[in-house]
Amino acid sequence: ASAMREIFLETPKVYWSDIGGQEDVKRKLRETVEWPLSHPDTFKRLGIAAPRGILLYGPPGCSKTLTAKALATEAGLNFLAVKGPEIFNKYVGESERAIREIFRKARNASPSIIFFDEIDAISAARGHAEVGGDRVLTSMLTEMDGIESMGNVIVLAATNRPEIIDTALLRPGRIDRMLYVGPPDLEARKKILEVRFKNMSIADDVVIDNLADKTDGCSGAEMTALCQEAGLQAMNEDIESVSIAARHFEVALAGLNRSITPEMIK
Ligand code: ATP
Repeated sequence: ASAMREIFLETPKVYWSDIGGQEDVKRKLRETVEWPLSHPDTFKRLGIAAPRGILLYGPPGCSKTLTAKALATEAGLNFLAVKGPEIFNKYVGESERAIREIFRKARNASPSIIFFDEIDAISAARGHAEVGGDRVLTSMLTEMDGIESMGNVIVLAATNRPEIIDTALLRPGRIDRMLYVGPPDLEARKKILEVRFKNMSIADDVVIDNLADKTDGCSGAEMTALCQEAGLQAMNEDIESVSIAARHFEVALAGLNRSITPEMIK
């Protein structure tokens, strides 16, 4: 069994407009990733380097994955997604091979993005010889250092635990930019609901401003779950239900989970 079976080239269909809020994150990513591709001559003229790696960090469910996909879609980049824990394989040498293979695929598909979700898994495995933890980190560093010569491959890494990422990975020329992707504020929560409601049947008595207000502290993922739950409530009431009303949201709100804790917020 090979770890590589799980790594596919994707063509995401996620647009900036699918993401509520996060305007700063969107703008910074556009600058750092799209400019080098669209204006390579200016970079050369000014003598500045294009970024190779960016770390997206912040609480779970707040659109890190969504953002990486939108960047790929909007900038016309091929997209390879890998989850840190997937890299580890009990067979000797297999996980380093996995890292090499990912970068090789990305190079062949360039311009491309490698999205490393849960990159902290690589750091957490350090010193764990049984899973080849140190060797995986070393191959990761080697591949990052080789990006310059391969051109047009960008590493986007994501984590909820930026404090445990190896400083070696964050050195200049590697994953040297950090972007905080935080929980949605009031305005962003309105946008998230608007985005969701586009594909839902919502009754006239549902007031977005109220819902946005009552979901303070929720992640985007939790807001999506709320909409889902409200829909099920409507069906509970009437299995042939045609729309979701305010009372259904009220029930869903009462059972809403809020998993973001203060220490996750910058
Ligand atoms: P994790 O750290 O758990 O991997 P994440 O930060 O990568 O989470 P995503 O996977 O991007 O979060 O978001 C999960 C889901 O939550 C999305 O598929 C989407 O349905 C919803 N969501 C989160 N944030 C937003 C947002 N800003 N706008 C619209 N939908 C959102």
